Amino acid sequence: MLNFKNINRITLVLFIGLLIISVFISISVFVFILVFTGWLIFTIIGSFNITWNYHLDAYNFNKTCNKKQVAITFDDGPNTEFTPQILDLLEAYHAKATFFCIGKHIEQQPKLVQQIIEEGHTIGNHTYSHSEIFDFYGKQKVIDEIETTNALVASIINKEMILFRPPYGVTNPAITKAIKHTKHKVIGWNIRSLDTVKDNEQNILNRITKNITPGAVILLHDSQNITVRVLEQLLLFLQENNYQSVTVDTLFNIEAYA
Ligand SMILES: [Zn+2]
Repeated sequence: MLNFKNINRITLVLFIGLLIISVFISISVFVFILVFTGWLIFTIIGSFNITWNYHLDAYNFNKTCNKKQVAITFDDGPNTEFTPQILDLLEAYHAKATFFCIGKHIEQQPKLVQQIIEEGHTIGNHTYSHSEIFDFYGKQKVIDEIETTNALVASIINKEMILFRPPYGVTNPAITKAIKHTKHKVIGWNIRSLDTVKDNEQNILNRITKNITPGAVILLHDSQNITVRVLEQLLLFLQENNYQSVTVDTLFNIEAYA
């Protein structure tokens, strides 16, 4: 498996091998630069693709799922305008979903958190600040972000969340260490709708529906209008094709709370 640990090992062996060989024959410095560049490319792509399981093992897709089930997930809420519309649609189609909420939004919308839970959906941790520079935070700062958000939700629903989704799906060694400490399970996805990219409704919907298979995890955002319109079409598609939308904990048969 080409994960961070193995790439580091391979790179180290290559460097040592090259150094030994260079005692006997001259090796251009560019060969060393090439090896380092290979390491860098793998690490950058692996960090940006949660589906690679490069830094940590995330729940991205349940390949053993033998029922026509998928998990719809919403990031970045709760949102006063769009989350209630999404909850209404889910209820109308008897669908369950998972909401990865941001701590600072939870502080402003505690009632929405309560409503999400009461309607049978799952809530997960999506950090407190969702900072653009989150990926540069050290282990302790990541732990603080996760624990602050967990405490906020615990004060509302009396449960400790154990599902976590890193902002932008980016992972790195600091997040790996933090998760080990907080014992959260990391949830990724295997269908990225790209609903936050400027695009039309039909293209976003097609990106999802063409990839639907049993066990799929779909990434959406309950922070914008277009997602509400896409969701309605998606729920219709799932209904017509006899698919059921369940929470991620149901899909993977794991616990969502401690
Ligand atoms: Zn996010």
